[in-house]
Amino acid sequence: MTHDVFDPRYARQLVLKGFGLAAQERLRDARVLIVGAGGLGSPAASYLAAAGVGALTLVDHDIVDLTNLHRQLLYGTADVGRPKLAVARERLAALNPSVQVTTHEGRLTAHNAHDLVAGHQVVLDATDNFPTRYALNDACLDRGVPFVYGSVARFEGQVSVFAAPGGPCYRCLFPHAPAPGTVPTCAEEGVLGVVPGVFGLLQATEVIKLLTGVGTPLVGQLLLLDLLEHDLQRIAIARRPDCPACRAVARAGTVAANAPPPHVAPPMVDHRSAADVAALLSGDAPPHIIDVREQWEYDIAHIAGSELIPLSTLPARASTLDPSKRYAMLCHHGMRSEMAAHWLLQHGFTQLINIDGGIDAWSVEVDPSLPRY
Ligand SMILES: [Zn+2]
Repeated sequence: MTHDVFDPRYARQLVLKGFGLAAQERLRDARVLIVGAGGLGSPAASYLAAAGVGALTLVDHDIVDLTNLHRQLLYGTADVGRPKLAVARERLAALNPSVQVTTHEGRLTAHNAHDLVAGHQVVLDATDNFPTRYALNDACLDRGVPFVYGSVARFEGQVSVFAAPGGPCYRCLFPHAPAPGTVPTCAEEGVLGVVPGVFGLLQATEVIKLLTGVGTPLVGQLLLLDLLEHDLQRIAIARRPDCPACRAVARAGTVAANAPPPHVAPPMVDHRSAADVAALLSGDAPPHIIDVREQWEYDIAHIAGSELIPLSTLPARASTLDPSKRYAMLCHHGMRSEMAAHWLLQHGFTQLINIDGGIDAWSVEVDPSLPRY
């Protein structure tokens, strides 16, 4: 079937000032890889198909489960037990028959990532695990294909564009995967169904912007949004000069491919439990606790002696901190503090602890007198 950009389904985009026919044609000619057909991938795939992206490739290995349905609206109750991709193909074809949908049943791994990324202009990272995300990052860098990253938990999430020309990659922000078990999954800590919907669509928006050249994509920017309080932050992230992945790509372009890679050991965030950090506080060289929550959260509960520097004010106030000192970063559940720790790493700090689980874990493990919220 030929894909007609004058199909009335695109009428509202064609009349849109600053979008129009040229952008619609770019969407029609585009191929987008969506890795993961779950909470983020399901809304993103639906809207990208509806918007008229010419070809979508979906990668997933799961079957539809009843616990998926509060957030994965591509699937219905009658689909429980069926492979997600079989259902996705039917739904997307029904939504927009002009879109060519290719499916790849299985996991994206370091072995097949290059082949899967090849031939696509943009990748949408809707994975829920670190090995896949790192494999995807490295393959996208290597192929020169930008990828739109998204991640959600509980009531909040984050989105950015990595591996775009001149921009940072995912390893510039997080050089290495966290130890298994240190980052809770949605299955463990839950997620409000609308949250991946919001973030999957933010990712789809970035894909459309990258494909059409309309607007400014989130290259070098990490957007963090807590939907409960509508607390929105944008953190600038730079390409790390010592990023092993970016260096490997730069090197491959300039020196012989068989040259041995230099040993690179960038400083890393030290992930510690609340109980661990409490023990450090009574030791010889206690870290200074930096609390990156908001004032109202600090007023509910805080650790004595901690310093409040809300995340959004950190870049302006980092000059008041000493890069040679050790800091333990704290927030509500450990996500904002991890961002803060990585930002400080990029700005010359080397001894950074993330208090995993945040003040909530502190209240459970260390000081039950602190109220939880
Ligand atoms: Zn990098």
